[in-house]
Formats: sequence, structure tokens, C-alpha cells
Amino acid sequence: MNKIEMQNPIVEIDGDEMTRILWQMIKDYLLLPHIDLKTDYYDLSLINRDKTDDQVTFDSAYAIKKHKVGVKCATITANAQRVEEYKLKKMWKSPNGTIREILDGTVFREPIVVSNIKPTVSTWKKSIVIARHAYGDVYSATEYFVDKAGNLRCTYDKDNDLTDNVLDLRFEGEGIVQIQHNKTESIKSFARSCFSYALDKKIDLWFSTKDTISKKYDHHFKDIFDEIYKQEYMLEFKKNNIEYFYTLIDDAVARVMRDEGGFLWALKNYDGDVMSDMISAAFGSLAMMTSILVSPNGEFEYEAAHGTVTRHFYRHLKGEETSTNSMATIFAWTGALRKRGQLDNNNRLIEFADLLDKTCIESIEEGFITKDLSNLVKSDKITVLNTEEFIINIADRLKEKLSWK
Ligand code: NAP
Ligand code: MG
Repeated sequence: MNKIEMQNPIVEIDGDEMTRILWQMIKDYLLLPHIDLKTDYYDLSLINRDKTDDQVTFDSAYAIKKHKVGVKCATITANAQRVEEYKLKKMWKSPNGTIREILDGTVFREPIVVSNIKPTVSTWKKSIVIARHAYGDVYSATEYFVDKAGNLRCTYDKDNDLTDNVLDLRFEGEGIVQIQHNKTESIKSFARSCFSYALDKKIDLWFSTKDTISKKYDHHFKDIFDEIYKQEYMLEFKKNNIEYFYTLIDDAVARVMRDEGGFLWALKNYDGDVMSDMISAAFGSLAMMTSILVSPNGEFEYEAAHGTVTRHFYRHLKGEETSTNSMATIFAWTGALRKRGQLDNNNRLIEFADLLDKTCIESIEEGFITKDLSNLVKSDKITVLNTEEFIINIADRLKEKLSWK
């Protein structure tokens, strides 16, 4: 079979530690033998980010704006210990944060579902995707500790206009204060990213907040979603036979526990933070969770939800055997390849991505797994493979399937 051609590149963002090792293996065993891979490559290893004063991170984000599709390897987020370990010029910002800011995107977390790992919630049959609004609310709140009696006053000074009194509250003793905000533009981008993702995946979209209590703040989120849905997406949703519905968060939580899954659940910043941890824990393993950044302009960046798996990397450096699960990183690649295929009308590329996903799932369902799954997979016949064997097992199956084509 001749190799699959690509018309346009994918932005390839390389990273750190164990996931950098997986990255190369995935390319060598699963992609390069079958695809004439075209990528616009950026090395976001911490060493190179330091060398380029983090310019490479900015360049990679602008490249995604240009090419529309990117795939990213996990990267180290620098902290004090890493500054020491890598002798860094400074504590560089999280690359994911920088890329998200530039693309103004929303992160969607989606579990990879296999039949022999049962979610903790027995009714869940399909994946539940979480979209978390990643701006404002409690994450950028102003907090204040009231240490004695006094008055709290908060005003809003409009440019060249009147001043509004927002709050006037008497404290008779100790207390605490928190002031939150959000911006309409950011909520709109979030809403558009959610509607685009649901349409892309052809799944229903649920959105929930606490608007019964928060009659202005949460209600504003609800109104924005409603308005954008009606003006920009309703017809497309109807055409694709999918639904958008808003419900109170209390009701959503109860429904999620009884539903079979297969939908996108959009949540405000804090709710999304907490619920995405709950959903990923209930679906099994962090190593089976993918993460997709979608911008309101329809730019897509695919990655694994887990980090660089540092502990395994140090074992690898000592020459010890590792059994690191590459599923989420493989799915990041297939997600990007499929999206590239869709944008370029490249059916062979789409078919390849689908086939590779299927092959990975089949391999796990037949019991060929990495160590992290050994307690989760319900089956008597399991074979625990090392990092490389796991990928080779998938590569062999893939080669055989492709030889029939
Ligand atoms: P982590 O890399 O996700 O790993 C935490 C632990 O989870 C691992 O030690 C391992 O447990 C298990 N695990 C995660 N992924 C696995 C996989 N694919 N296969 C098998 N086991 C897996 O989180 P971390 O150790 O907290 O963070 C390491 C580095 O990653 C940090 O520098 C952090 O800044 C960075 N990070 C990057 C991203 C990103 O780029 N998106 C996200 C999160 C963290 P056992 O050791 O028990 O086997
Ligand atoms: Mg969390």
C-alpha cells in the first residue's frame, strides 16, 4: 500500500520526559510507516522553551491559528524545583496556559471508553465530555479577611459617567469577603466553542449553572448561551438531530447519574474543575483521558489529559522497564489527523485515524494492556506489556488490517 498523502500540515508540538519517549515511538511504529506525515514542528521541551525565552510556545500557538489543527505532547510546567533541576533562566509560564490564552479556547476532556473497563456509574455506556470555562469566577477572585467591625463598600465607576453602588455591608466582627467577576466576551467564546464541539462530534450539549440563586451572574451565562444558540447554531443542531438544553446544576447532576452518556456537559470554571475530576475518576484512568482545546474560530489542539509521567521517566533513565500507557497520546494524534482529514476532504486520512482508534481499543479489549489498567480491566486473560510492547502490539494489528485494504 502506498503511503497516505497529506495536503496540509498538522502543528506538531513536542514535549517532555516519558511522553516525549511515547511521542517518538508512536510516530515510528504507528504513523510514519503508513502516512507521508506533514507537520509544522515545535519543540516545547523545557530546555528549548528556556533557550528561546519561551518564544517557541508563542510560535506554536500562532502556527495552530494558521494551520487550524495541532497535536501536543505533555510538557513540564516549571516550578521552583524544575527551575533548579534544569537551571532555568526563569520560571516559565505553563505552555498550556499560554496556548489557551492565544487561541481563546475551551478545554474539552473526553474519556476513551473500552468494554472491559466498567465506569463506576453502571448506567454510563458512552463517554461524557466535560467543557470547563477557563476564565474568571473564583479563580481570579479578590479575597479579603475582615479582622474587625467595619463597612464593606464596593462601587463601579463607569467611564465618563455615573458611579454605581454595588455593595454596602456592615460587619459587626470578623468575616471573609470574595469578589468574583467574568466577562461577556469570554462567556461568548466559551459558548461558541461548546456549540462547535457538539456539532463537530454530533452529540447533545447540556449546560448547567445555579441561576435560581445567582439571578444576575449565572443567569447571564444562561442568557448568552440561549442567545448564541438561537442566532447561530439552532438550525445546524436541528439538521444534525442533536439537542442543546439548559438545566439547573442540581438537576444536571441527578440526570448525569442516570443517563447513559454520549453528550457534552458544559460547566462554569469551578463546576468544570470539580466535575471533570469526578468524571475521569469514574471512567477509570487518567491515561485514558484525552483533552481537546477548541477555539471559537474553529481551531483544534489535541493532547492527552495526563502529564509527562515523571516517575516512569526516571525509571526509564535508569534503564529500568516501564509500562506507560500511550492510549491518550495516540488518540491525540488520531484526533488531529481526523480533523486534518475533515478539513482537507482527505478520506484516507480519516479512515486511517478511525482504524487506529479501533485497533487500540480492540487491543485493550483483548486483554493486551499496560500496568496502570491491570486493576481496572475486568477479564481473566490479561497480558501486561511494557511501554514499547504495547505500541508494537497495536502496530502489528494495524499493519495486518491495512494489508487487507
Ligand atoms: P502525571 O504525569 O499525569 O502522572 C501522575 C501519575 O499518574 C504517574 O506517576 C502515573 O502513576 C500515573 N499516570 C499518568 N499518566 C500515565 C500513563 N500515560 N500511563 C501510566 N500511568 C500514568 O502527573 P504529574 O506527575 O503530577 O506531573 C508530571 C509533569 O507533568 C509535571 O511537570 C507537570 O507540570 C506536567 N503536566 C503537564 C500537563 C500537560 O502538559 N498537559 C498536564 C499535567 C501535568 P504511577 O507512577 O503510580 O504509575
Ligand atoms: Mg481539578
